[in-house]
Amino acid sequence: MTTSAQRHRFVYAFAEGHRDWKDLLGGKGANLAEMTNLGLPVPPGFTITTEACRHYLETGHEPPQLRDELVEHLTALESRMHKRLGQADDPLLVSVRSGAKFSMPGMMETVLNVGLNDESVHGLAEQSGSQRFAFDSYRRLLQMFGKTVLHIEGSHFDDAMADAKRRADVSDDLELDADDLARLVDEYKVIITRHSGQEFPQDPTMQLRMAIHAVFESWNAPRAVSYRRQERIRSELGTAVNVCAMVFGNLGADSGTGVAFTRDPASGARGVYGDYLPNAQGEDVVAGIRNTLPLSEPERTDQRSHGELLTIMATLESHYRDLCDIEFTIERGKLWMLQTRIGKRTAAAAFRIATQLVDEHVIDLDEALTRVTGTHLAQLMFPSFEDSDARERLTTGIAASPGAAVGRVVFSSTQAAHWASNGEDVILVRRETNPDDLDGMMAARGVLTSRGGKTSHAAVVARGMGKTCVCGADELAVDERSGHLTANNGVVINEGDTLSIDGATGEVFVGAVPVTPSPVTRYFAGELDPTEAHDDLVTAVHRLMRHADHRRRLHIRANADTPEDAMRARRMGAEGIGLCRTEHMFLGERRKAIEDVILASVGIDGTADQEAALESLAPLQEADFVALLTAMDGQPVTIRLIDPPLHEFLPDLTELAVHVAVADERGEELTHTRHLLTAVRRLHERNPMLGLRGVRLGLVIPGLFTTQIRAIAEATVQRIMAGGNPRPQIMIPLVGSVQELELAKDQARAVLREISERTGVPLDLPIGTMIELPRAALTAGELADAAEFFSFGTNDLTQTTWGFSRDDVEGSFFSAYLEKGIFGVSPFESIDTEGVGRLVGLAAAEGRSQRPALELGVCGEHGGDPDSIQFFEHAGLDYVSCSPFRVPVARLEAGRAVVRNETVSDDR
Ligand code: ADP
Ligand code: MG
Ligand code: MG
Repeated sequence: MTTSAQRHRFVYAFAEGHRDWKDLLGGKGANLAEMTNLGLPVPPGFTITTEACRHYLETGHEPPQLRDELVEHLTALESRMHKRLGQADDPLLVSVRSGAKFSMPGMMETVLNVGLNDESVHGLAEQSGSQRFAFDSYRRLLQMFGKTVLHIEGSHFDDAMADAKRRADVSDDLELDADDLARLVDEYKVIITRHSGQEFPQDPTMQLRMAIHAVFESWNAPRAVSYRRQERIRSELGTAVNVCAMVFGNLGADSGTGVAFTRDPASGARGVYGDYLPNAQGEDVVAGIRNTLPLSEPERTDQRSHGELLTIMATLESHYRDLCDIEFTIERGKLWMLQTRIGKRTAAAAFRIATQLVDEHVIDLDEALTRVTGTHLAQLMFPSFEDSDARERLTTGIAASPGAAVGRVVFSSTQAAHWASNGEDVILVRRETNPDDLDGMMAARGVLTSRGGKTSHAAVVARGMGKTCVCGADELAVDERSGHLTANNGVVINEGDTLSIDGATGEVFVGAVPVTPSPVTRYFAGELDPTEAHDDLVTAVHRLMRHADHRRRLHIRANADTPEDAMRARRMGAEGIGLCRTEHMFLGERRKAIEDVILASVGIDGTADQEAALESLAPLQEADFVALLTAMDGQPVTIRLIDPPLHEFLPDLTELAVHVAVADERGEELTHTRHLLTAVRRLHERNPMLGLRGVRLGLVIPGLFTTQIRAIAEATVQRIMAGGNPRPQIMIPLVGSVQELELAKDQARAVLREISERTGVPLDLPIGTMIELPRAALTAGELADAAEFFSFGTNDLTQTTWGFSRDDVEGSFFSAYLEKGIFGVSPFESIDTEGVGRLVGLAAAEGRSQRPALELGVCGEHGGDPDSIQFFEHAGLDYVSCSPFRVPVARLEAGRAVVRNETVSDDR
């Protein structure tokens, strides 16, 4: 087949397709083709391409040659089946099924039994020997055609069905007999005429074409559109349409239909899992109208088909080399395969299955790494609720941000903040949240809303904060004003009652469900020995982590400010500290000293002695650094000099002003406070993020930087004298020009030289800079002249590149931006590769060409984000640094990045 011929075809028989043609044939079509070519029992049929769908949706009509191709393929199908579509005495029936490139479960439409009409229903009855079956199939066609093609409200059909059951005094549609169903067919036809203004088309070809168009159009059904937006599926892809000869699971007790998985998609356990419904067709299994039976049912009733099913599932697994899910039907003892695909699975199942497949010699460890993700791993590290029958589930909403949160219910943010400040754990419950709820969300253990999806305000902000969130729990009526909520089973929860919410499953429980730390986290914390298999999940994680460590090129460091965090990070596998923030060294009791420094700096004389104040801080800071360097002995520790604007270390402006006003009233002196107020007023900035901070502060008040550098140097000397191996690196923040960096560096060098001369200990500490302003990235070549390392501060770089103030934008309009599709994920969560990433790439390249040994790292939160890590591997950085808890995720992703890069280049 030539490619130019391919381009102009709109229809492919199943036998002509291939599993890799998902773009053209959709996932369902591509896999039906694959199964056909594997010789599995697939009812014959053909696929109309996504290209035809796109043409139809763009122009409003089919591509001209589609009609002829359709006739050609239908004729071929008819001659193969030895009957014609809708033939009166022995009709060929077909299903018309949607199927896009990416699976969109239940979002689009399928019509079964196309080809039945008032005449052929009798032919079908004759051929099958079952009137009941024929009319059951016909009423199904009328119902699906009515809903999908003619857009009639489904409840009309459901009501008529309920009436029929009442008349016959039965509870189950299985108990309706042929006469009941024949009467239902008449009623359905009346419903169709009444509600669509047209009669049900009796012409089978007309039915087929209308059904095909309806499937094309279902691509743009509102729920499909919103699903795509949520899942980031491009809206221009379109769906393919599969036309497939019908097989019948509703032909009596020796027939049935089911779904199955080749392994348990929940736990990953080996073995076949599935549901089966005897005497049923298609949707019945998933629609939940009858209770399904386990797969042991066909094993009992039809051993031969069951055996064949197991063999086929084994074939599919070894062919796809992964967990598959399937749809099948048994028609009077004959098994048919109707669908397969690589099955979705939980995080735990992903790790277990990947290592099982290694042990079964199906894939190697490299490939196993590509089958799990950092996101999976992060999910496994959250604590979880204990699984018990005693749990009382209130409802299930959308799992928006993982975690297990327990707390007392409050309905306002003010209340949340108030209760939390009294040490209470609270769950903030709102109909939906808005920017005014930020404080409440921050204070709460978890957030629960009754409206909004995965891109709602609550979901976006909670994910950004790493806070547990369940949103869109629309079965809950939330009455914020009177302070209670009502579930649809009538249970009322009042303010102060306790709820437990599971952000990984969306479940909401009444009362406090006990929480257990995850075994995976306990393993990373060194509390579980992975070789003593307590839990095969821990063993699976351990094996894949070891392989990731073996494969990765990127080093992983942690952002840690205290010795405790440093120790934790080391246990999690960190190979150094990439960002030690020193701000906390100026807080608490040390604040008084800082006030004095500031008073002196704004030129209020006679009130404070800057030297002395700084002097008093020196020994405290030195002790901090000794502790940190001890915890990270032998590993690099990148210390960022003071960064936030000065006024963050001062008392609140309003509070001070009130204080002074009261003093005035009472005629009190309060000189220090008055001076402080003057200083705070003078230092007040409209836009502190862009004000006097970072290197600017260090150059304006040189004492601040030199005090810190002195403390670092003294601590280093102490550690060396004590026989340690301290490896501090001094990092200058918010540099925009090489002059700033050189001035700061001169200060540093002078201090280091002085201390080195005094103590006789050589102090060759690397001095480098953050790259967190666009200007720094754009002049990276010059900066590299003066800097021994770069560390990309991607949080600030994202803020300054986009002109976003994170605290302002995330809570206000980010959910609207996500909703509108301006970006798929927040650029603060995953690095914006085209914009911010481009600056990173440019700075890395220019920096390295100036100084080949330049060390490159990243210390923004992106350092722990799976997608961003893939990008940093590509950009050739030396390390990523993230919070201690994310270190395992980063190790795994760094390993995956190497493997994935290699696979991509192999393919070229
Ligand atoms: P979905 O993508 O929603 O699963 P499908 O196109 O797979 O929709 O079809 C819906 C149901 O109808 C499934 O249970 C499927 O197995 C069944 N079905 C589809 N085509 C046929 C057919 N030719 N014969 C019998 N059952 C079918
Ligand atoms: Mg299906
Ligand atoms: Mg910064």
